[in-house]
Amino acid sequence: MHMESTLTGCKRFEGVKTILLSTKPDEVFQPQQLERTLLLVLLPLFAFASVAAATVDILMGTATWFERYQLIPMAFVFMGIWWWCANTRSNQVARIRLATLIVGPGIIMERFLLGLSMTYRDGYSPNHFNSITVWVILASCMYVLLLPGRHAFLAGFAYYLVTVFFIALFAVFNPHPLPESVWQEMMIAHIVATPIFLVIIGGFSRLRTAYGSALTRAEASEHLAMQDGLTGLFNRRAFASSMRRARSRQARRQTPVSMVMLDLDHFKRINDTYGHETGDTVLVKISKILTDTMRRTDDIIRWGGEEFMILMEETSADKAGLVADRLREIIETTQILKKGRVTASFGITELIPGETDTDFFNRADAALYDAKDMGRNRVVVRKRSRRPSDPKVKRICDIIDSSRFGSE
Ligand code: GH3
Ligand code: MG
Ligand code: MG
Repeated sequence: MHMESTLTGCKRFEGVKTILLSTKPDEVFQPQQLERTLLLVLLPLFAFASVAAATVDILMGTATWFERYQLIPMAFVFMGIWWWCANTRSNQVARIRLATLIVGPGIIMERFLLGLSMTYRDGYSPNHFNSITVWVILASCMYVLLLPGRHAFLAGFAYYLVTVFFIALFAVFNPHPLPESVWQEMMIAHIVATPIFLVIIGGFSRLRTAYGSALTRAEASEHLAMQDGLTGLFNRRAFASSMRRARSRQARRQTPVSMVMLDLDHFKRINDTYGHETGDTVLVKISKILTDTMRRTDDIIRWGGEEFMILMEETSADKAGLVADRLREIIETTQILKKGRVTASFGITELIPGETDTDFFNRADAALYDAKDMGRNRVVVRKRSRRPSDPKVKRICDIIDSSRFGSE
């Protein structure tokens, strides 16, 4: 069966990409998250560099039009982009990056060309060249720092080559003599130093990309190892981490956690009568019913064979019992097989703080056995008190059927 259609039953496993983007952020590394973090760190640095350079020149009385009217607004634009980055979802990273790369290198290129053309027209003035080399290096490096993958170095190098091209044009056609020191700065700082910076930063950038994709692969394979091949649900290996998460939520919010164990009734018969393939289709349909009915925060695990486990956070055993009974009814009334019906038995219990995972599981499993013993297609809740405490729940339980909705 096609991967996606097999997996649509489980919201958590709609392909590796979706896993990485949709699962709880504290569990799974998101590649875009790293890019975003990088932008959040770099943008204030760019803004600071712009303001610092402008301030020094203004204080020293050597500030040019560029420093006064472009560098300081550029710092504000960087901080604006930073605010956008901090307050938007990670999937906006590509746009934020594009905006940064248009604003920064764009303004610097404009200033660079303006400096050359004004010198060409009016002759040399220190204002036209004031620290522009440093800015061109920074602009090339911005591409390498911000763009992901191989394009990064190419884009930074292309930017650098454009500036070298204009310097070459300028050297050939400029009618005015330039001081020796300016040529030296252009040759050494610009033409020689920029590629060296690009290579160094490109190396770091590659490390960052490699780190990001290694993390992505590790997370993805860890998730795939916890995924059931047939239904796309979590498999038994996910139980420990689901329990850890549930326990910490229980401790933090003081809310109950419940477990529902579900076992299809006489599943062997379905296999024997209709064949193993039909049996598999039934399992996929059941998992679809489970994921469609349960909340997104509930962890649904295919425990094995035709047994499923649901861990419900912020849910008491009574409430879990009601949900399970709704599930029971949906399974019973859904036309899963062409002929005949499929039913399931449910065992439910609530986590007692301090008990082990095994004790918790055993109690739910024992409740499931009770449900089987009592004739199948029913829900049994096992907890410490004998009857449901919530009067509303109690009334509904009574209506459902006193034997079907038993308590210990
Ligand atoms: P009960 O009502 O007591 O649960 O009866 P049952 O027949 O469902 O229970 P039993 O545990 O005896 O049988 C479970 C069957 O599920 C046996 C096994 O062949 C079948 N089974 C386990 N895994 C799969 C699977 O992945 N696909 C299919 N088609 N069948 C499976
Ligand atoms: Mg069974
Ligand atoms: Mg079974």
